[in-house]
Parts: sequence; structure tokens; C-alpha cells
Amino acid sequence: MPAKPKDDAAAKKEEAKPAAEAAAPAAKAKPEKKREKKHREEKGVHAMYKVEGNKVTRARPTCERCGPGYFMADHHDRYTCGHCGFTRYKQK
Ligand SMILES: [Zn+2]
Repeated sequence: MPAKPKDDAAAKKEEAKPAAEAAAPAAKAKPEKKREKKHREEKGVHAMYKVEGNKVTRARPTCERCGPGYFMADHHDRYTCGHCGFTRYKQK
């Protein structure tokens, strides 16, 4: 049968593969896991409000120009309004 030499080659290939993969997966699999876990924040307006008892508190400041209802984005050094572009720098 002409299939036998092929099978041998396939068997050899499979033998070589796991060894090569065994070294790689440890390094390869980690970043993928981290990326999936990078669920930093809740999204949507509901994330901007926290209910404490009978009070509602806002997680972000609202835009001074646009008024209440326009929350500002929280950057590491500033808040910005996505609606009008207003930026307020955080004081230290
Ligand atoms: Zn605004």
C-alpha cells in the first residue's frame, strides 16, 4: 500500500508538533486570558449612578456647559465632555 510511508511521515510530524507546541502555549495562552479578564468598567448610563439607601449618587461629574444628564468621561488627569468637548483638569 502506498499509504504506509505517508502514515509514517504523518506520525513523525505529529511527534514533532507537540514538542514545539509544548514550549509555546505557556507564553501564548497567558496574554489571551488577560485580555478576556480586562473587563474594566461597566458600561451604560446605569454605571454612572449608585444607589445608597434612598439617595442616588453620580459616579462622574456632569458637564458644566451641557448641564445635568451629560456625564463627563473620567481620564487619568482630566474629565471631558463627549458632547461639547469641555475639559476640566483634575486638581491635585
Ligand atoms: Zn458638555
